Amino acid sequence: MKQEHAPGEKNIRKRVWRIVGILLACALGIAAALFLIDGRHVRFYMTGGTEISVSYGQPYEDPGCRAVSVGRLSGEGETELPVMVSGAVDTETLGSYELCYTAHCYLFDYSTIRTVHVVDDTPPEIRLEYMEGYTPNWFTGYEEEGYTAMDDCDGELTDQVEVFLYEDRVEYRVSDAAGNVAEVVRPLEYTVTRPEIQLEGGEEIEIDAQFAFSDPGYRAIDSLGNDLTEFVQVEGDVTAYREGDYTLQYSISNQLGETVSATRTVHVKSVSAPETIEPEGYVIYLTFDDGPGIYTGQLLDLLARYNVRATFFVTCLNPDYEDMVGRAFREGHSIGVHTASHNYYDIYSSEEAFLADFNRTEAMIYRQTGSYTKLFRFPGGSSNTVSSFNPGIMSRLAQIMTDMGYCYFDWNVTSGDAGETTETKTVVDNIIGGCAGRRVSVVLQHDIKDFSINAVEKVLSWGLRNGYTFLPLDTTSPVTHHGIRN
Ligand code: ZN
Repeated sequence: MKQEHAPGEKNIRKRVWRIVGILLACALGIAAALFLIDGRHVRFYMTGGTEISVSYGQPYEDPGCRAVSVGRLSGEGETELPVMVSGAVDTETLGSYELCYTAHCYLFDYSTIRTVHVVDDTPPEIRLEYMEGYTPNWFTGYEEEGYTAMDDCDGELTDQVEVFLYEDRVEYRVSDAAGNVAEVVRPLEYTVTRPEIQLEGGEEIEIDAQFAFSDPGYRAIDSLGNDLTEFVQVEGDVTAYREGDYTLQYSISNQLGETVSATRTVHVKSVSAPETIEPEGYVIYLTFDDGPGIYTGQLLDLLARYNVRATFFVTCLNPDYEDMVGRAFREGHSIGVHTASHNYYDIYSSEEAFLADFNRTEAMIYRQTGSYTKLFRFPGGSSNTVSSFNPGIMSRLAQIMTDMGYCYFDWNVTSGDAGETTETKTVVDNIIGGCAGRRVSVVLQHDIKDFSINAVEKVLSWGLRNGYTFLPLDTTSPVTHHGIRN
């Protein structure tokens, strides 16, 4: 028999299942929609940032990176996700490296990148070497004791070091390829070897006016005992024959241009003139210029015979008779300088020329007599105008010669033997006429002229007979100056 089911019961069961199915499908759809809306993914927290720098050669320690899952609706997960790091940083090689951080969430991998720059930010190192017992020398300069420069990245940089030498230090500077600069200073103590200039005779000296200045000397010694005297430069001049104050600068400079100096003041004082002593009675000073010469010996014989002393103003023009100067001196006659060359245009061209000529004659006199003389007679006399090609030269020469203590003599009785006559009788008459009645006569003759020498005996006998005294000139004798005209 066929079992009958009530149709209402079967339909109800079917309907229930359908409703359940629909409800499940709805729940799944809602869940999927919520998941999509939530958008769950990974969030990274990078300690130190996405770009960091690390020094060359230093170990790289990653500052770390955290990862958590996060959704729009659900927020951050409470547990951290494991993070995988890939990539490497080689700090022995400059450059930029990328590190990749990866975390897994549900079905997907998420990653982020960090860039690491390996940079050279360390300056090179300069090492100074020191020489045992070395002291820098002020004069010769600093002798480099040595140095090295190393850069941890670029290697040795010694030959790129710039060296700057200063007065009190040496500066060393070098930069590496990345522009990091190293600077080292080596202090110098040059000053300990700075020399001192010692002036013999002191910083102030006083000298009598004289032909030429002779420096009393100086020395430059440094504290190491080095004698640097030969490097001393002397500036300034002393016109030793002219009264005045002169400054001499002694200095020594080193390679840095530093100078040590000393100053000397030279006071040139004129020699005080000896006082003139007026001779007593009637006096005749016979003076003979331009010798010695061929007749000088004969004249000396005559004077010796009469026991009379005269004065010879000598030249260097007749070297063969120079010994007559010595003989005259030994026989009590006075010797004075006349001139070596008797060349007006030379000797009056300058003070220096005059003094050079004068020196030659003085040297000859010294050779013959063993002593110098303070007596002289200007060629042409002090009143000459032949020197007017050099205006004022006679005034200047008279001044400097007087300052040096020399006495120049002119004459007040002329014999006429310089051109007026060549007759002995006229010479005799001129001299006797000039001397007669004169308290002090200075007679000018030339002992290179025989007609003039031949007049002397008559003059002597006349003078001695008439109470005149014949004397040689000395520095106290009356000078009978003509008066300077140039
Ligand atoms: Zn003369």
